[in-house]
Amino acid sequence: MRKGIYRSIKHAMILAFALSFGQKLAAQTVPGSGFDAIDYAITITPDIPNKSLSGESVITVEVTDKAQSEFAFSAFDLPIERATVNGQKARIQCDKTALMIVSPKPIKKGATARISISYQGRPKQGVIFGADYAYSDYFACSWTPCLQDKPGDKAKVAISIIAKAGQDTQSIGTVNVLRPQGSSLVQYNWTSATPYSNYLFSFAVGRYNRVALSPRLDVANLTQQTPDQVRALFGTTPDMVAFFEERSGVPMPVGHYTQLLTPGDDAQEAATYSTMGQNQITPILKDPTDDWVIAHELAHLWWGNGVTCESWDQFWLNEGITSFMVAAWKEHRHGRAAYDAEMDHARDRVKRAVDRGYDKPLTFAGPYPSLGTRRAIQYSKGALFMDALRRELGDGPFWQALRTYTRQYMGKTVNSRDFQRAFEVSSGRDLSALFKAWVYTA
Ligand SMILES: [Zn+2]
Repeated sequence: MRKGIYRSIKHAMILAFALSFGQKLAAQTVPGSGFDAIDYAITITPDIPNKSLSGESVITVEVTDKAQSEFAFSAFDLPIERATVNGQKARIQCDKTALMIVSPKPIKKGATARISISYQGRPKQGVIFGADYAYSDYFACSWTPCLQDKPGDKAKVAISIIAKAGQDTQSIGTVNVLRPQGSSLVQYNWTSATPYSNYLFSFAVGRYNRVALSPRLDVANLTQQTPDQVRALFGTTPDMVAFFEERSGVPMPVGHYTQLLTPGDDAQEAATYSTMGQNQITPILKDPTDDWVIAHELAHLWWGNGVTCESWDQFWLNEGITSFMVAAWKEHRHGRAAYDAEMDHARDRVKRAVDRGYDKPLTFAGPYPSLGTRRAIQYSKGALFMDALRRELGDGPFWQALRTYTRQYMGKTVNSRDFQRAFEVSSGRDLSALFKAWVYTA
């Protein structure tokens, strides 16, 4: 059932996580050290035939520790044409671990700096180019300088996309379209007032059609599927939204949610939309219970995008809860056997990890030998832990505790102690033994 998701795994992703978990960098070159990113204003012009793009990112940061002149971002492959800090020309240093922008003057603690970076080139990863479309996947910092591995630093983002007439775009939040007179180019200004982790920054451009599912839901269709076929594939989405709203105690955290349907194997959440390959979705036509990808990416609006792990060693709070919520949706929609099948599947994956010598707690910081092993712990063991908590507390107190947690931390970042505290306060129970057995490394 989940073979497809393994097909879509990129080796680079394994490398990225191995680096973020395993490698110690000199303090000043750790991307994001010493500052908070507050706001990103990104303008990109994709060149689809050339599989390239040009862009400018204006990043407003606040210095947090002590005066500093070096600002490190995630490693960035595209050639940089120019960088400034507060309007003054800055030095650029790039290596495999970081992109460093060096201000000619130190910026004082508590002060903000406006870092502007212009670039152009062919992204090696992070953007999938087709004949007449392009869309980004997980690696946001491949197409714009940002902080890929600092999920705890949420920032506001505005993404402007310069597209050709006849193309449509998708990005974060709501859009304002400018059509300059006499130009064949159209500027799509996407903005979100809600701050998001940088790995959720994303965009798409192409000649697609949109199929409405409800006033708040649509599908941006890049495939040959007809509108009726799209509705058949995604028709349960409104019921899923109602289910997650009820179980979380929080209304859908975005005003509008789009599912971008692509020709491939994608399964990737972005801040206010998700990208899904038709190879992941079409099995639903044969087996209606095979609806996990729609449920999984939608659930991330609450757990992952809304309530976000503060660092990758807490990633089970994004993926374990989301994997569990897929099982809970299946139980609600398809019956208890579908829930049990998800748990059996999770147990199989964890057993394979244990057989490989990775009998690890949920917050194990790695390194893992493969993305599959990491996912077995953070996704599958995370889902099994949620199931264990549910059995320990009973349905009423368990769901009430999940509501307490989700309401309390919506829009914020969390760690496992926050999660434990919310569940203990809500249920009135001491859960330390259960958390010690499943979650913590010591
Ligand atoms: Zn996920």
